[in-house]
Amino acid sequence: MLEIVPLGGLGEFGMNMLALTWGETTIVIDAGVMFPDPELLGVDRIIPDLTYLQQKGGAAALVLTHGHEDHIGGVPHVMPHINGPIYGTPFTLALVEPKLKEHGLGDRPTQTVRPRDRVTIGPFEIEFVRVTHSMPDCVALAIRTPIGLVVHTGDFKIDQTPIDGEHFDLHRFGELGSEGVLLLLADSTNVDRRGFTGSENDVIEAFEEIFTSASGKLIVSAFSSSIYRMQIVVDLAAQFERKVAFVGRGMIENSAIAQRLGYLRVPGGLQIRDSEIANYPAQDVLCLTTGSQGEPMSALSRIAVDDHRHVKLASEDTVVISARSIPGNEKSIGRVMNHLARRGTNVIHEGTKHVHVSGHGSEEELKLVLSLIKPRYFIPVHGEYRQLSHHARVARRVFAGRDPQPEILLIENGDIVAIDSEGARMAGKATAGRILIDGTRTGEIGDEVLRDRRHLAEDGLVVPVVAINKQTGMLEGVPEIITRGFVMENSQDLLAEGARMLSEVIDQASVEERTDQGIIKEKLRVELRRFFRKRSGRRPFVLPVIMEI
Ligand SMILES: [Zn+2]
Ligand SMILES: [Zn+2]
Repeated sequence: MLEIVPLGGLGEFGMNMLALTWGETTIVIDAGVMFPDPELLGVDRIIPDLTYLQQKGGAAALVLTHGHEDHIGGVPHVMPHINGPIYGTPFTLALVEPKLKEHGLGDRPTQTVRPRDRVTIGPFEIEFVRVTHSMPDCVALAIRTPIGLVVHTGDFKIDQTPIDGEHFDLHRFGELGSEGVLLLLADSTNVDRRGFTGSENDVIEAFEEIFTSASGKLIVSAFSSSIYRMQIVVDLAAQFERKVAFVGRGMIENSAIAQRLGYLRVPGGLQIRDSEIANYPAQDVLCLTTGSQGEPMSALSRIAVDDHRHVKLASEDTVVISARSIPGNEKSIGRVMNHLARRGTNVIHEGTKHVHVSGHGSEEELKLVLSLIKPRYFIPVHGEYRQLSHHARVARRVFAGRDPQPEILLIENGDIVAIDSEGARMAGKATAGRILIDGTRTGEIGDEVLRDRRHLAEDGLVVPVVAINKQTGMLEGVPEIITRGFVMENSQDLLAEGARMLSEVIDQASVEERTDQGIIKEKLRVELRRFFRKRSGRRPFVLPVIMEI
């Protein structure tokens, strides 16, 4: 009997993870994170509950489709439940390796695979099939099980003019369809968009216009995994004779990895360090930065409030936000755009020019895959419930008149689907939910509530309460620090010192930073957490409360 359990990514965007079990062998496909609303608690990231894997005695392998955070961000946290290797394409593994090292897991075995490679894990034989998406080296999985073939698309769109010349392997999809597919799991993200999504190439025209008309510095903010976008912008920089600086940790790291592996080509002499930006005339510089989601501590947020060491904005500069806003981040992005506007900067985004194209296929691409694969069973994945149910409706139209009718299983996280010679059926519910992770610590992994309680019990809760004048951003009175379950020797002195430290942090911040709740909260949280870790060796939950008076 084949057992299929989505542990994350169904009914939500983010933390994609799916378990497949045959007999004693379980394999896990992807291990993603979800980023919480910036306003939510003191939480950095969210991963799926892993109780199911624990109950299975761990998985024989972790198989990755591509290197986006919603597919690999949880890898270090899942590793305690993975007994075998991690399989991934070269670029995917290159993005995973620093995460493993950071968590002291650098010695865990990884195995590099390429499209059309096959690997055997117990009763499963997995074939990797090239798909196109918004980053290089993405694959779908064709998994041969004793009861039939399972195809998992991973994230995809059908880009017919891929930047790196690596095409979607439509031939193989067709062949798999002819071979006969038992079960298809397919990306539902953009099912509610009509037509085709469009190629990564589509943004070149808008960027050409921007390069032609920009007079000052040009700052392009994108996801640090958007290697294609980076390549387009770097090529135009070379053409328009601008030096290229990568700004922000993720951008610097990923551009280095991508260049080392040959996925990003930067002509010799073009790249400069962020510390060298000031040495060049503004019109000769292009910066690629992180922060397209308005993350409070990111490079773009710092630049926007004039708090970046190397990048200072002038009114003739242009900022391009070359990413979509992930739902929930609109407020933070709006705040950053307001700060940028206050500096007189020209801000260009998806709404004003075609500077972003999605990496996920629209309705027609999804239909094409459905009709090529024509599975016996179909499970829509990667989306909120409304996308999943829309995908089911689209599939019913695609399969209309087929005999036998493919069966569509609309399921959510934790639902157990069992397939045997009798067919597919719902076979109960596995524990599913979310684990909140703070900082980079791996922590012991239990279910969300237990883990929070354990964390609170061990390290306590610290709530700094700060009153700030809404206009001037000046402190009104001395910050107060309230604690629960945080007991230390001399804790009164420590708290007084902490409060003084907070006053200093606020005094040193600019008015713009002080009056931006998102930024000031994050600053206080980071500083206070560092303070307690240094002074007490503990890591309490820190939940700043800002009162605007
Ligand atoms: Zn993706
Ligand atoms: Zn994804």
